[in-house]
This record gives sequence, C-alpha cells and structure tokens, in this order.
Amino acid sequence: MRVRHLPLDDNVNGWSALLPTRQITAPLQGKHAADWLVVGAGYAGLAFARRVAENRPQDHVVLIDAGTVGDNASGRNSGFAIDIPHSVGSTVAELRTADNYKRLLQAGTADLKALVLHHRIACDWREQGKFQAAVSPELTPAMQAYARALETLKVPFELLDKAALAKRLGTGYYGLGIFSPGCVLLNPAALTRGLADHLPANVSLFERTPALDFNFGSPSEVQTPGGEIRARHVVIATNGAAAQLPGLANQLVNLSTYASLTQPLTPEQRQRIGHPDDWGLTPLSAVAGATIRYTHDHRVLIRQQVRHTPQLHNRAADSERQVSQHRQIFLSRFPELRDVPMAHSWSGLISFTRNGAPRWGQLGPNVYAAVGCNGAGISKQTIAGTTLADLASGVDNPLIADMQALGGPSYIPPRPVLDLGVKAMLNKAIQNGSSGVLITRMRRIRPKRVVF
Ligand SMILES: Cc1cc2nc3c(=O)[nH]c(=O)nc-3n(C[C@H](O)[C@H](O)[C@H](O)COP(=O)(O)OP(=O)(O)OC[C@H]3O[C@@H](n4cnc5c(N)ncnc54)[C@H](O)[C@@H]3O)c2cc1C
Repeated sequence: MRVRHLPLDDNVNGWSALLPTRQITAPLQGKHAADWLVVGAGYAGLAFARRVAENRPQDHVVLIDAGTVGDNASGRNSGFAIDIPHSVGSTVAELRTADNYKRLLQAGTADLKALVLHHRIACDWREQGKFQAAVSPELTPAMQAYARALETLKVPFELLDKAALAKRLGTGYYGLGIFSPGCVLLNPAALTRGLADHLPANVSLFERTPALDFNFGSPSEVQTPGGEIRARHVVIATNGAAAQLPGLANQLVNLSTYASLTQPLTPEQRQRIGHPDDWGLTPLSAVAGATIRYTHDHRVLIRQQVRHTPQLHNRAADSERQVSQHRQIFLSRFPELRDVPMAHSWSGLISFTRNGAPRWGQLGPNVYAAVGCNGAGISKQTIAGTTLADLASGVDNPLIADMQALGGPSYIPPRPVLDLGVKAMLNKAIQNGSSGVLITRMRRIRPKRVVF
C-alpha cells in the first residue's frame, strides 16, 4: 500500500527555534530487520517504542519518522499537557467516558513527569494549571457547561471575574474565567526532543525516513527512500497521515492550526502588564477562539484558526494571513505592548474523528495503531502509546480497559462530501463563536468539543 501524502509544514517551528541545534539521527539506509517497527515519532510513537522496549528488552525496536523529532505536531503545539476532558455529557455513558478520559490524561501526564524528572529533560515543565475564559462577564451556557463538567469530574476550580483575571493575566480583555489546577505548561519541542534522546538502548530511531510503502504480512515489509524494514510487528503512530492506510480510511479528518510567539518582554514591558506569573488560557471554542500563553520566558503565544488540510500540506500564504491575525489578537489583549514584535509563526497538523473516539488497538495480525488524537495529544497520545505497547506485548495494565471503553471512530464520508461538511462546520463554529463543536451533524452523531 503506497503512501501518497507526507506531512509538510513549510515554515519554522517557534518552539524549536528557541532551542540549541539538535543532532538529527541519520535516515535509514539498506535492509533492516526488527521485532517492532513503529512508524511516527510523535507522543504516541515515542511512548509505544519506549514501553515495548522496556517490556521486551531482548527485542529490537525500530522507530522511523518522515520528518525530524520536535518539528512534528508533537513539537509544534501550544504546550498544554491537559489533565481533564473539556466536556462531559449528562448520560451515564458520557459520564463514564469522561472519567476514563480523566484517568488516561492524568496517567499520561504522570508518565511524562516521571520521564522529565528522571532524564532531567529541560522543557520548561510548569505546573501552572489553566484558565478557560470568555470576553462576556456573564456566566454563559458554555461557561456553565464547563463549570458543571469540572464539578462532575470532582476537579477544584475558581470562578474569576474581570478584575481578578486582569490581575492574574495582565490583560483586562476577559470578562469571566475559570481556573483549574492540574494542567502543565511546557515547551513541546524540548519535551519531544528529550523523549527521543532518552529512548532505551534497544530502540533505533531514524529521522527523515518516511514509510512509503507498506506490505503487511508475517513479517511485514515497509519501504523507505533509502531502504527496507522487515518487522514482526508494525505500529502505526502517524496520526492523521494514517488515513491513507487500509483499515484506517474514512475515519480521520486532517486539520491545521496556527501559532505565533512574540519576542520576550523586557523588564519594563513586563512592568506595564503588572508582572504576572506565567499562565495558559484556552478559549471556549477551539475553532473560533484563541489559545493564549504567557510563557515562563515572558513571551506571548497565540494559537488560533483551523483549516481543513486533507493533503497534509500547509501553504505559506495561509501562514502569512495568520501572522497578521495573530498580531491583531495579541494587540486586542495587550494594547500596551504595541512595541513587542512577533518573533515566530508556524502551522501544525492535527487529526480528528467524527465522534471524538481514537483509532487505537490491533488492526490485524501483528499490526497496531494509535491515531486520531482529537487534540490534547501531549498526555492523551502518550498514554495511548504506552497502553498499546502493553496490550501488544501482553502486559497487564488496567488503563487498557479505559482505552478500549472509548470505542472507535465513526464513519466519515470520502472527499468531496467530506470537504463540504468540514467547511460548513468550521464556518458555523466561527459564526457561533462559542460552541467548540467541530465536525459532524453531517448525520446523527453527537458532536464533541475540542481543545488544542
Ligand atoms: C498548533 C497546535 C497546537 C496544539 N496545542 C496542543 C496543546 O496545547 N496540548 C495538546 O495536548 N495538544 C495540542 N495539539 C495537538 C497535539 O500536538 C497532537 O494531539 C499530538 O501531536 C498528536 O501526537 P501523535 O503522536 O499522535 O501525532 P504527531 O505528533 O502528529 O506525530 C505523528 C508523526 O508521524 C510522522 N509521519 C506521518 N506520516 C509518516 C510516514 N509515512 N512515515 C513516517 N512517519 C510519518 C509525522 O512526521 C509525525 O512526526 C496542538 C496541535 C497543533 C498543531
């Protein structure tokens, strides 16, 4: 099965630009044999490779990535390691699913924390919690729903009015907000690099090694530009790019979203906004709203705008439009910081399923997948990779049952019907500006909220 589209973001990743140059591992050349071939070195692939190598120390694990570690979506995101699901329904089944998600997200974050501490990964790990805020000072239905979700999940939170928010954030833009502890803020490129640089010795990582052709069997054979890998087991951890493979078509939607970072604020500029501590804020609608961070090194991050990206390529023209929109968003929050320039802007891919359920588990004999992140992938895809490795290597882990309970993705129609459906839903979300609802209602499936 040939791969037609490889992910391409034709601009820099601001988080990587803040880090020293990293020695990229050599692309795979020639013929290799492996017990496990893991395709994709994002959070899912890195977690799978690590755990399976620990479970089976005699096995040889090969991990390949089309690009370079830290410059994939895993290294390009806004850096919120999310600890709780964003929304909770009211039926018994929805409550159970929200509880499963909470356990999984918190386990993913705990695994990452253990690795960060053990390997001293310098990724600016900050246990700062997060704000969810709206411009309106009223407790709107969307804010009420979020507060109810936190109550249901037994997560403590503070309701903050405009004045309290202005003091904590250094901007008077927001009218009402909810703060909950538990979320971790970090530099995602530094985390991803650190995870890759401290893999167990029986894992071989090859970057700039796209899998171009899959022939599943016993063993499976995978072609790359410079070589071939014969592997007893294959793990697909390529997120939305997996939609091109048999058994994974018509389940995943590829979208792009965009982010910018300013220059660091000078001490005098920090004084203008009241010297706030670093913070992270997510909007009520991931599509219409903007995710904002004030980082530990005094930069402002803006993540905003979502586009359908079926061929996995981001265009420079889209990014240019984005830079000026991000600038407007920055100035609307911080009009007193007009002299602070944007330093970096970039795009990143993200994948969704129609009903919010991941594609996780065994696809066929000796073939596994952990794809369809639906956002929140720092913690979610980490635990998806770890639990899948335990499942595949026969190690008992109670969280496997939590993953299985999430179910699988529902059917999405092929293009061009899909294109029309996604376009209509993105437009609707922007017009409503408050729903956070993404895909679907193309038929009868319940829409899910998304948080990036
Ligand atoms: C701008 C932005 C902001 C976001 N903010 C957040 C946030 O704050 N918090 C959060 O939790 N999540 C956030 N996300 C989502 C998060 O980044 C994803 O959920 C996460 O990266 C998914 O991890 P993954 O390992 O499943 O996939 P990815 O990180 O996409 O990794 C998949 C890997 O597969 C590789 N690949 C694809 N095809 C092939 C092939 N044929 N051969 C070899 N390799 C291949 C890719 O190069 C890539 O490295 C954000 C995403 C973006 C774009």
